[in-house]
Amino acid sequence: LLELNRIGHAFFGRTVLEGITLTVERQEIVALVGPSGSGKSTLAHIAAGLVEPREGRVARRYLRHAMVFQDPRLMPWATAAGNIGFPLRLSRAPRRMRRRMIGDAALRAGLLPEDLGKYPSELSGGMRQRAAIARALVTDPDFIYFDEPFTALDVALKRRMQDLVIEAAASARFAALFITHDLLEAIRISHRILVLDAGGRGIAGERLPPGNPGTRDEAAIFALRQH
Ligand code: ATP
Ligand code: MG
Repeated sequence: LLELNRIGHAFFGRTVLEGITLTVERQEIVALVGPSGSGKSTLAHIAAGLVEPREGRVARRYLRHAMVFQDPRLMPWATAAGNIGFPLRLSRAPRRMRRRMIGDAALRAGLLPEDLGKYPSELSGGMRQRAAIARALVTDPDFIYFDEPFTALDVALKRRMQDLVIEAAASARFAALFITHDLLEAIRISHRILVLDAGGRGIAGERLPPGNPGTRDEAAIFALRQH
């Protein structure tokens, strides 16, 4: 669904990525971990077409993608419904249908109908992040880029949000590249983990215990950490 081939990039003459090759298959959640500054966000921007790489090729074999960032980036002057529906603004769908699409996406992201009329300032951090996820789901994308979406959330909420992504990916059948600093999160949420080393040189696959996202038990995770 997504193929990056020998990607290289530099900012102002300083190399940040070198020879990065990776693929994400249909309905696969691939976690991308690596130290701060290793080029994870840059790689996601290149994959999504926001940045043109200096070297290498990107093949996107999907129709629609969406992005979710660490900070939810909601428009403060619009309600949750207005924010979630923003990607639909150019759609020709009638108002009633758009309302239904917004309601569906909100429900899948775990927002209540009464939250839809609230402004971002009236929502908790977790609710705002749910609204950002609903905004990503509303166009029914085939691929979602997540860039450290849950870093700012507390442990319990983080876990609920991870489950939400796992369930949404399984039911809506999207693939995802999920960037995180948190190895446990990567193990829980993904089918496969890629590790970008400091300096963005090369990428290594990390073997995961068998099982689908969300189904690996703590013992399996512990076994991998010992490994
Ligand atoms: P983090 O985990 O902290 O988010 P990251 O792995 O996402 O880090 P990037 O944001 O991709 O890392 O940055 C990789 C390197 O490229 C860093 O050294 C950063 O300073 C540099 N960089 C990123 N974007 C730009 C830019 N627009 N202009 C110049 N340098 C940049
Ligand atoms: Mg980053």
